[in-house]
Amino acid sequence: MSERARERIAGERAAAQARLESLQHHLTSIREVSTWTGTDDEHDPEGATIAFERAQVQGLLEAAREEIAELDRAEARLDAGTYGVCARCGTAIGRERLDALPAATTCITCADRR
Ligand SMILES: [Zn+2]
Repeated sequence: MSERARERIAGERAAAQARLESLQHHLTSIREVSTWTGTDDEHDPEGATIAFERAQVQGLLEAAREEIAELDRAEARLDAGTYGVCARCGTAIGRERLDALPAATTCITCADRR
C-alpha cells in the first residue's frame, strides 16, 4: 500500500506543480499586459478587470502551493511510517479515501465531524 501511495502522491504532486507553473506564466502575462497598456489602475474599467483576473490567478496559485505542501507532508508521513493513520483518532484511514485524497490526514469519520 505504501508504494502505491507514494506513486499517487508523486503523480498528484507533478500535476499540482504543472498547474502552479502554468498559473505563474499566466500571472506574468497578465502583468505584462497591464504594463504595456498602462491599465494597471483600479479606476480604469479594464484595469479593474485585470486586477480581478490577477487576484483570481493568485488565489489559484496559493491553492496549488498549499496542495504541494500537503503532498510533501504526506510524503514525510510515508517516510516516518505514520501515513494513512488518522491524525485525530489514530485509526487507519480507508484505502478508498487515500486513493481519492492521497494527502488526507484524517479518517472519513473525523473529516465528516469537522
Ligand atoms: Zn479519525
